[in-house]
Amino acid sequence: MSQTKPAWQSLADIRTEAEAGRLRYEALVAHYLERITASKELNIYIEVFEAEALAQARALDARRQEGLPLGRLAGMVVSIKDVICYKDHGVTAGSRILSGFRSLFTATALERLLEEDAIVIGRTNCDEFAMGSANEHSVYGPTRNAVDPTRVPGGSSGGAAVSVQADTCLLALGSDTGGSVRQPAAFCGVYGYKPTYGRISRHGLLAYGSSFDQIGLLAHSADDIAVALSVMAGPDAYDSTSSRRPTEAYELASWDKPARIAYFSDILDMPGMDDAILDKTRAFLADCEAAGHVVEAVSFSLLDYVIPAYYVMTTAEASSNLARYDGVRYGYRSQGVRNLDETYKKTRTEGFGTEVKRRILLGSFVLSSGYYDAYYGKAQKVRRLIREQLLAILETYDFIFLPASPTAPWKIGQKADDPVASYLADIFTVLANLAGLPAIAIPHSQLSEGQLPMGIQLMAAPFREADLLAFSRLLCQQGLPK
Ligand code: GLN
Repeated sequence: MSQTKPAWQSLADIRTEAEAGRLRYEALVAHYLERITASKELNIYIEVFEAEALAQARALDARRQEGLPLGRLAGMVVSIKDVICYKDHGVTAGSRILSGFRSLFTATALERLLEEDAIVIGRTNCDEFAMGSANEHSVYGPTRNAVDPTRVPGGSSGGAAVSVQADTCLLALGSDTGGSVRQPAAFCGVYGYKPTYGRISRHGLLAYGSSFDQIGLLAHSADDIAVALSVMAGPDAYDSTSSRRPTEAYELASWDKPARIAYFSDILDMPGMDDAILDKTRAFLADCEAAGHVVEAVSFSLLDYVIPAYYVMTTAEASSNLARYDGVRYGYRSQGVRNLDETYKKTRTEGFGTEVKRRILLGSFVLSSGYYDAYYGKAQKVRRLIREQLLAILETYDFIFLPASPTAPWKIGQKADDPVASYLADIFTVLANLAGLPAIAIPHSQLSEGQLPMGIQLMAAPFREADLLAFSRLLCQQGLPK
């Protein structure tokens, strides 16, 4: 199989057709529903909101016929990762523990998209509680990469990435705690964007590591990400960590000067990096120079500490966030228990999968008395140093370049017995979350082996979303993906 060519590349394409009367929104949704049926074996969706999406589309067609104004996102057909709340719809974080649970309210970010007439087509598969890098830790089974269904799509927003890759929707909402939007985007040949921490409200996003989590976006273009971000971003009274900083019309920003791009000298001889990824990395940097940008190696002395710091802190936060799933208030409850203590124990034993349990145990350990300072306290200090070093680099440079992943998409099951191997594969993406920076994965090219997609990644200083997206658009005009 190879990459599906999407029927529509961007919202602008759809709007042009719709406004000229050549495309009805109902036909648009019907197209995506057909694609969902045709790609069933990839296991992208947990639930498809077929009747509802068609009804919303018909309502838009009727309003257009009557000459009534439509929202800015009419024609934007969206999939949502199974960690984002949508009132009166199921949400389970890919976990048995939330089976049967329905959202009581809609996430702020999604609410804003709906107010502008976006249509939600379904909810997508993901790693349980967004913990994973391959979409293999879901109670619903693995999602498959559309380019090669024997391979993983990346994770944890694997379903989100394949939903765009296989042309079943135009935009996907994912979540990114340590790369879960960018790495699957790179594995599937689409764009994946993680905003600055606090740019998009987390209200209604099921929490994994609260000081890392952000809702992110996957699409065929940086343009669509920019349009949707403009709608979703901004302060929210329901999330005290959302920034009050004014938002911008991200889709109108442009970049027309040479960029100053830094890369870490160490990555060019890093063990564990695929040769093919390294070759493409070198080629990308050379092309940027040839296009007139300034590309320079900088030293970043903390690369060895990013994975330990990330996994200490996120597991600690997760162990606390997941304490609420106790069989009393939400979803699954074990049957045949005799008392409250057994209810907690059996519900959590049966309700959580192996990877989630591993992380709850690890997180409880690093927070336990006697170990707190040695692990959690130390990781917090490392986190601050990492942020300071990155911000210092970003005073001199516009962007920091990194590959999105050190390896190509691996075979399903290949790393299943080796959690550390899959943790190490997050090395290039967790940095942006540790430091709260905005970052984007951009499709670069195909690897010669099996035409698997390869993505590059750029990070910018906090709240420089407009520059990052504008520069991504420029790279696309200058010939990416190749
Ligand atoms: N792979 C990383 C992890 O397992 C990132 C996950 C994410 O961003 N949600 O923690």
